[in-house]
Amino acid sequence: MKKNKEPLRMCIVCRQMKPKIELIRIVKTPDEIIVNANKVNGRGMYVCKDSKCIESCCKKKLINKTLSCPVEDSVYDLLKESANNAK
Ligand SMILES: [Zn+2]
Repeated sequence: MKKNKEPLRMCIVCRQMKPKIELIRIVKTPDEIIVNANKVNGRGMYVCKDSKCIESCCKKKLINKTLSCPVEDSVYDLLKESANNAK
């Protein structure tokens, strides 16, 4: 239990730094946007596994803003589902 240097990642919603285990990773590949993409290479972003962060991410379409590209609603649906599964 001595992991002092756990790498932190920033949630795109609340902009807090958190350990990866508390975050959902979203990756943009050339073909699609993958939610919960822990083992996929590509440009990644993180959202807290927290209903408030996920809701405001969906409401504000923050994935679109972060990627500066259109994002299908299904991506946001998946994000909500991942949050439910994480509980
Ligand atoms: Zn957050």
